[in-house]
Amino acid sequence: METLAIALLFFILGGILSLFLGRKLKKREKELLLNDQAKDEKIRLLEFENRLILKAQESVMFVLDQTGVVTIANKQAREFFKKELIGRPFEKVVHIPEVYEVISEAIEKEQVIKKDLVVRLASDAFQLGEERSLFVYVKPLIAEGEGGYTRVQVTDTTEQYRTDQVRKDFIANASHELRTPLAIINGYVETLLDEDVLSDKETSMRFLKIMKKHGHRLGRIIEEMLLISRLESGASNVLKYDAFLLKDCISECLEHLGPLIKDKNAKVKVNLKDPEVTLEADRFYWNQILFNLIENAIKQNIKDKLKIVVGAKVCKDSGDLTIWVEDDGVGIPAEDLPFIFRRFYRVEKHHSQHKVKGTGLGLSIVKRAVEAHEGTIHCDSVKNKMTKFTINLPASLLVKSEG
Ligand code: ADP
Repeated sequence: METLAIALLFFILGGILSLFLGRKLKKREKELLLNDQAKDEKIRLLEFENRLILKAQESVMFVLDQTGVVTIANKQAREFFKKELIGRPFEKVVHIPEVYEVISEAIEKEQVIKKDLVVRLASDAFQLGEERSLFVYVKPLIAEGEGGYTRVQVTDTTEQYRTDQVRKDFIANASHELRTPLAIINGYVETLLDEDVLSDKETSMRFLKIMKKHGHRLGRIIEEMLLISRLESGASNVLKYDAFLLKDCISECLEHLGPLIKDKNAKVKVNLKDPEVTLEADRFYWNQILFNLIENAIKQNIKDKLKIVVGAKVCKDSGDLTIWVEDDGVGIPAEDLPFIFRRFYRVEKHHSQHKVKGTGLGLSIVKRAVEAHEGTIHCDSVKNKMTKFTINLPASLLVKSEG
């Protein structure tokens, strides 16, 4: 009886214990399940977040796993490398050796590497040999407990690189252009001081005149550089709009150029199909545009009895205005034509530049001023025959005549 009671007690205790343990196990199981669900949810959220980041990225972005295989890549990456990346080892898709090296180095050293590269792309991704500037950012994700994953980001910075290059060239050219007249002026000042030439009035006057000429040249270069930078600033208030007759603007320029025209024995014909054509534009810049084009036509040509035509015509259909300045002088060689609107570009070969030394900035100002008015300009030229600059302006710049 006693044994039976003890056995029963053990049985009951065992039952209670297994019930208790069973519950505990179930609870643990549940906890584990919940943990897994939470983990899945976290991963899902992370993936969603990654996808959003990848989509929002304007740069090329992809992620490599521990074996160097691409696991995630955005649309930009597919477009840049012109192939599907996911599931392929990066050495099979990254065809730019410089980029490949940066990725390898970052993986090997397990450290973040950021690099600006200038590469020549000889792949089918771009035209053969095209120079591009890239910013490469490689980040191994080891430190974040993400098990040897690596994030790669490639940004095409070519546009900014080119702008920087143009700016650097401009500064280099400008300094060079400013240094020449300055050195001449300094040279004469020193001669005047050192060699006691001041007592020789005739020589001193000659030196002072040369200094004056180069002082003017310095001033003109600075003025023109300021004009260009104002036009390039993109500020909305650069232009001051006013209504004026095109013929008045042309007359004013011809008046200023009168002595030069006379000196060259040139003939200037004004050919306005509609003499009353009125512009709603910035008169200051139109003076600059027409003055530069007409002055060029005169000063770039040494031939006697040069003929210049300044014309304008409103297109019947579109209402757009075409203005042209044409001369029958030396012309511009075809190989120089694409570059004449560049800053400081001069066609040295065919002109007697010692006589007509300009700043090389005139046509850049003309082009920028025309474009600031939403217009376009181009040049046609036949060597030893003619040069014609043609400007097209939208009808919106014209003041409609009443009636
Ligand atoms: P510059 O200050 O030297 O005149 P521009 O920018 O005005 O500079 O002109 C650039 C170059 O284009 C000139 O150096 C000249 O060689 C050439 N050019 C411009 N207009 C004419 C023209 N009407 N006939 C011949 N060459 C021209």
